[in-house]
Amino acid sequence: MQLSLSVHRMSWRAPLRTAQAREPPPRPLVLLRLETADGLVGFGEAAPLAHYDGVTLEAVLGALRTYTPILAAATTEADPGLLAACRRARPVAQALAAVDLALWDLAGQRAGQPVWRLLGADVAAPVAVNAVIGAVLPAAAAAEAAAALEAGYDTVKVKVAAGDDGARIAAVREAIGSGPALRVDANGGWAGVAVAVAEIEALAGAHLELVEEPVHGAAGIAAVAQRVTVPVFGDESAPELLTGSGAPPAAVSAPSGSGPHPAAVPHSAVAGVCLKVAAAGGISGLLTQAHRAREAGWDVLIASTLDGPLGIAAALHAAVAVAPARACGLATLDRFAATNPLPVRAGRLNLPGGPGLGGAFSAWYGAHGI
Ligand SMILES: [Mg+2]
Repeated sequence: MQLSLSVHRMSWRAPLRTAQAREPPPRPLVLLRLETADGLVGFGEAAPLAHYDGVTLEAVLGALRTYTPILAAATTEADPGLLAACRRARPVAQALAAVDLALWDLAGQRAGQPVWRLLGADVAAPVAVNAVIGAVLPAAAAAEAAAALEAGYDTVKVKVAAGDDGARIAAVREAIGSGPALRVDANGGWAGVAVAVAEIEALAGAHLELVEEPVHGAAGIAAVAQRVTVPVFGDESAPELLTGSGAPPAAVSAPSGSGPHPAAVPHSAVAGVCLKVAAAGGISGLLTQAHRAREAGWDVLIASTLDGPLGIAAALHAAVAVAPARACGLATLDRFAATNPLPVRAGRLNLPGGPGLGGAFSAWYGAHGI
């Protein structure tokens, strides 16, 4: 199979203000095109976000170049060892995701079926998604929340750990009333477990649905989760939580006589994890993580790393298979200046039509090539 790559830089219409206060640069996306010997073409997307996850565009392109001869030597896209061979060559999740998406796209096109059907689902119900409000001033947050409610969202997420969280959250709850779910996301921005616990308790009057990533690190998140009544979800630390799911990591076993170790908190206190196509290494990796999370008794959300439309489409196919009980964090394409090919309707995203990942997204990328 022949692999080709193109890099696209997306301008923001509305960059999201988070606990990381910096204005993000244009968003790089890598479009991967994989053509089989008989002329079938599948597309994948790599979505590194260096200012957020530390994964650079160069690291992803380097990994994808390492995969090129492996894919070139493959005689069929159905070789079940292809992705593992790429991972052994260079384990970069965002690069592996691009390959995985293209392989699912090809598999769907070969079968004449959408990917969600290959994943075992019978119907593709629209996926409920949450509105996202940045760490803006209370009046602006309230106006955005009211607009989200008007547009049909029933879950609103607000960024916290920046500015006056209490006033912002109170303004949003006031704007949406008591019915809709209100969740907060600290992006690991609170300075330690004690601060996070105090901040969450101070927001409890707003009846939060959940809090994402109060602090970074599995042990810290578990410690916060044990001390608050609001359900706590790991997001950026989800891979670390999943590695040591259900038990303290082996590395923190306290030597005898050293007393209790602060990291030896049962991770079972955590309520759930946010899973992402880019961080999970694609649809296949996300499904494995979802299975592992549920085995640990955790709830699962599917979210975006400000992906392009192929990444969002892939997450929607995965969401149909995983069927999360709560709204997913996939309503992010409107953040780009470009026209949104997957608009949210009444708080829900419809699966793109057609076989494979669906949709005709290559034109969208083509309009933003450099
Ligand atoms: Mg988050």
